[in-house]
Amino acid sequence: MYHQFTITIPEPYKDVLGERLIRFGSLGVEIHDDAIIAYFPATVDRKLIENELELLRTIFNSLVDPVAMTIERSVLPETDWNETWKKGFTSIDVGKLFSILPPWEHPSGRRIPLTIDPGMAFGTGHHETTRSCLVLMEHHVGMVTADRFLDLGTGTGLLAIAALALGFRSIIGVDTDPLAIEASLRNILLNKAERIELHEGGIDRCEGCFDMIAANLIAGTLVQQTGAITSRLVPGGIVIMSGILKGQDDEVVAAAQNSGLACIERLGDGKWVSLACRRELRQERV
Ligand code: SAH
Repeated sequence: MYHQFTITIPEPYKDVLGERLIRFGSLGVEIHDDAIIAYFPATVDRKLIENELELLRTIFNSLVDPVAMTIERSVLPETDWNETWKKGFTSIDVGKLFSILPPWEHPSGRRIPLTIDPGMAFGTGHHETTRSCLVLMEHHVGMVTADRFLDLGTGTGLLAIAALALGFRSIIGVDTDPLAIEASLRNILLNKAERIELHEGGIDRCEGCFDMIAANLIAGTLVQQTGAITSRLVPGGIVIMSGILKGQDDEVVAAAQNSGLACIERLGDGKWVSLACRRELRQERV
């Protein structure tokens, strides 16, 4: 038996709520247009989750601009849960090269399989920003030497695993969140990608320069980190920046240009924008 919580909340809060529920022991969270659904094993303390959700509802309600949140709980028998859960995680093709699969599906066709443990809210590849990173990686991999790759904010390790499949020789994933490092480790094993190196922390945890960096963060962090990112790119190296809400992209592009990057592709997907920027060959950082 499993507990199923169905929560309605406006779009901008869904991801953050999903991540919180995972931390509270959810086996997985499905993010839908109209609601998010979180599953918990029968062994969890249901009251604890209900209290947490009630607290969040009170907080959201007391904001200057109150945010409406509704919570519904139901119980699912074991067999239903398996089916319901699996339905939410089917394979998806991304770009021309990749296919993201849950562990119970077998790779078929000629696409590169990226297998992901579905017990996570973020980085299942169903998120637009992750998909855009993969698309930009495949667009620009031919423009760099496939030697060193950094996945800054690796989350579930998906982009690092994709970099290995694209032929990068040395790959590092870093994340400030220890839970993300744990999740990446599980996925690295699932994909037999043990060559990927993982570190808990930020960009300062790695040494030397990279041919390609993926940074699926948020606009504010990207603006703050562009200088450090640029200094870790070889001349001609490419950074893929994602997690930028439409309307915030100009600010990130300006910060990138100020640190000596040229924006070579801007890719929109729904409310998100992702960028590919190249470190100028001749110009040093300003
Ligand atoms: N790369 C994955 C996950 C992106 S989510 C994907 O594309 O799907 C962003 C991740 O960045 C989170 O796991 C968060 O913990 C991490 N993060 C946020 N700020 C960071 C920083 N300054 N340095 C390193 N990691 C960071």
